[in-house]
Amino acid sequence: MDRKNSARLLYAIILAVILGALTGWFMGRDALMFSWMGTLFLNALKMVVVPLIVAAIISGISSLGDVRKLGKPGSITVIYFLLTTMAAAFVGMFLANIFVPGNNFHLIPNMTNTVEQGTSSLSDVLLSLISPNIVASAANLELLQLIVFSIIFGAALTVTGEKGRVVGDFFESLNKIMMVIVGWIMVLSPFGIFALVATPVAEAGGGNAILETFGAVGAYMGVVLIGLVLHGIILFILMAITTGRGARFVREMLPALFTAMGTSSSSATVPLSMECAENAGLSKGPVRFVIPLGSTVNMNGTAVYQGVAVIFLAQVYGVDIGFSDYFVVALTTAFASIGSAGIPQGGHVMTLMLFSVVGIPAEGFGLILPVDWMLDRARTTLNVWGDLVGTAFLNRFMMDE
Ligand code: ASP
Repeated sequence: MDRKNSARLLYAIILAVILGALTGWFMGRDALMFSWMGTLFLNALKMVVVPLIVAAIISGISSLGDVRKLGKPGSITVIYFLLTTMAAAFVGMFLANIFVPGNNFHLIPNMTNTVEQGTSSLSDVLLSLISPNIVASAANLELLQLIVFSIIFGAALTVTGEKGRVVGDFFESLNKIMMVIVGWIMVLSPFGIFALVATPVAEAGGGNAILETFGAVGAYMGVVLIGLVLHGIILFILMAITTGRGARFVREMLPALFTAMGTSSSSATVPLSMECAENAGLSKGPVRFVIPLGSTVNMNGTAVYQGVAVIFLAQVYGVDIGFSDYFVVALTTAFASIGSAGIPQGGHVMTLMLFSVVGIPAEGFGLILPVDWMLDRARTTLNVWGDLVGTAFLNRFMMDE
């Protein structure tokens, strides 16, 4: 897409977000008549995400020529994911301690809205990496399993030499074709984003109904949002220092960021993230590797939210959080990111696991659940921003190699 058209598209997307919010806010449930447009856009993204991820990773790895060359960029990416996710959890916990959003709740609310305790453990996370049925994983959009399979497939391809070349070329072409389709979907994105913003606001009953839900947990929401913005700025500074990229890069990524906000799904945003990153001139290795992987294992926004939620509910329930607990929370969020799917509210199971690790009653989840659909949109935007910064970071590193 040329510069003029991409600028036009960006303005159209910004207008779509504003119009969508206003439509849902003022029309209330009547705005649900637009919801099909959002579903159509989401379905189109889901339609391309499986072939795109498989083709991108396999062709990305096979273009390296030798899978051992993946070792260094691979470990840098994983370290980036772990450190930034842990830092995000610390940002959330730090802010919750400063603003004390749980202050308003001196009495423990008698929650009737109880939620089942999460039961995931490290072994579950490990088991979730290998698919017993790759077709079923593709059908269920279990992207982490597809990614692991694609990495193994790409690795095997690099050792098959001349005989495997035709398959490597096939996936290279498939990747190109899928990106053409993504370009077409992108042109329609303003309509989809408009509906995806309007629909949940309408479902919540419009503006006044939303303002009522703010009342009880408004302070908690405010702290999560401040944390997300702050961590986004920290990542920006990190990127500016290490890669020299700045405001222009943010601008180039806006279509992906707004799509993340609209869809609440890092995975559904992968096609647009790849398109934006490629348009910004990032090379194909980092784009094809970091973005799909990051969408399922790197969740900075979710970690900020989990950090705030833990401290907020500890304040509400009078649970003592000791010094070492902060590290436990940060480490758990980093690993929980791997086990959380990049889908709307995909972080819930792991959030419950985190609560049980530090002794927060699972019923506390009922307190933060009513506003979660809004926070999910905001944290997904940071999740995607974290992946894009990681891509720029690896791109810079690979230029030096
Ligand atoms: N919706 C988030 C994502 O797709 C996951 C979550 O925090 O629930 O990245």
